[in-house]
Amino acid sequence: SVTVTALKKKFGQTEVLKGVDVRVPEGHFAVLVGPSGCGKSTLLRLLAGLEEADTGKIELGDRDVTRLEPRDRNIAMVFQSYALYPHLTVRENLAFGLKLRKTDPAEINKQVERASEMLGLGALLDRLPKQLSGGQRQRVAMGRAIVRKADLYLYDEPLSNLDAALRAQVRVDIRKLHDELGATSVYVTHDQVEAMTLADVIFVLNKGQVEQSGPPLEIFDKPATRFVAAFLGSPA
Ligand code: ATP
Ligand code: MG
Repeated sequence: SVTVTALKKKFGQTEVLKGVDVRVPEGHFAVLVGPSGCGKSTLLRLLAGLEEADTGKIELGDRDVTRLEPRDRNIAMVFQSYALYPHLTVRENLAFGLKLRKTDPAEINKQVERASEMLGLGALLDRLPKQLSGGQRQRVAMGRAIVRKADLYLYDEPLSNLDAALRAQVRVDIRKLHDELGATSVYVTHDQVEAMTLADVIFVLNKGQVEQSGPPLEIFDKPATRFVAAFLGSPA
């Protein structure tokens, strides 16, 4: 599980997160939605430890990780720009993070096999990124994140570079992966359809605060504010 309490972050004079509270139970898939600039990526970067919070608390399970470096958090992250190492094969791309951690080679092989099987990358392991389609590259990027068992999986608009058909397909893959891993996931998107279909729970962010949270249908049926209603396109 992940618990974020009264989290605040300023860049210069600008208060980007103004006291954010988020709780995602173990095994749940949470989706963060909200307009451009509302602080979604900033929140993910704070969760990953790539930025430091000014005040507030981040807990993974019962562990306070608020001041920990990224390497000490056991979090996996998939970014929007899925940069793969162009000179490394798919297999080497998948193994890269584990090698950095000086994982035993036999264990690396096992984890790479497991991840590539889950993502249907088995036939592509010896190819270079330039020999892959966009969707396949996206899968390799996800493979790099899931090759290691993490306490929390973070996704920042991972599908935004894909066409509509691929987006629909990889979206299904992501949810399936989440269920198979028994993972806890936080997923950022602009796309209402993605939010409604992927989420166990949605958090609507507005100007650095959570405006409403709850299961997708509840938010859609009972928007708490005009902002939420307008944002999700519900009739209220
Ligand atoms: P989008 O949907 O466009 O990706 P977002 O919700 O992810 O938006 P953030 O990237 O979290 O938004 O940015 C929130 C605000 O913080 C923006 O106004 C942005 O300009 C500002 N910001 C983000 N990172 C920095 C930084 N390193 N330095 C200064 N300002 C920043
Ligand atoms: Mg963003």
